[in-house]
Amino acid sequence: MGNRTFAIIKPDAVRNGNTGKIYDKILKADFKIIAAKLLKLTKAQAEEFYAIHKQRPFYDELINFMSSGACMILALEKDNAVASWRETIGVTDPKEAAEGTIRKDFATNVQENAVHGSDSDENAEKEIGFFFTQSELIANQ
Ligand code: UDP
Ligand code: MG
Repeated sequence: MGNRTFAIIKPDAVRNGNTGKIYDKILKADFKIIAAKLLKLTKAQAEEFYAIHKQRPFYDELINFMSSGACMILALEKDNAVASWRETIGVTDPKEAAEGTIRKDFATNVQENAVHGSDSDENAEKEIGFFFTQSELIANQ
C-alpha cells in the first residue's frame, strides 16, 4: 500500500463540468481512487473542515463558496501521495500555477481554485477520517 492523501473537486469545477477531466488527470498521475462521493457540504461541515483558516480575511467567503454546490470528495493512494498530489494540483493561486497543473487548467481564481489537497500526512488522515468511514476506503484495487 502506498500512502494516502485527501482531495476535493470543489464546487466551481463540478459546476463547470470538469469532474471527468480532473479524474483523468488523477489517473494519469498514477493515483488510485480508494473512495469517492458527491456531497454538498453544509456550512457547518465547511467551517469545521477549514477551521484552521478561521482568522483569515477570506474565511467567510471560502465557507460560502465551499457550501455553494456539490463537491466530489476523494481519498487517493500513491507513494508520496501528499507531495505528489500538491504537485499535480499546483499552487493555490492559479496565476502562479505551473503549466499542466489542475489549478492552471481549471481554476477560476485564488478562491475558486478547482481542487483541495492535504498539506501533510497527518492532515490527510484527519481529512479522510472527517468524510469517510474505514469501510468506505477500498484498498488493494
Ligand atoms: N483561499 C482564498 N483566498 C486566499 C487564499 C486561499 O479564498 O487568499 C482559499 C482557496 O480556496 C484555498 C483555500 O482557501 O484553496 C485554503 O487555503 P490554503 O492556503 O490552505 O491553500 P491550499 O492548501 O488549498 O493551496
Ligand atoms: Mg491548505
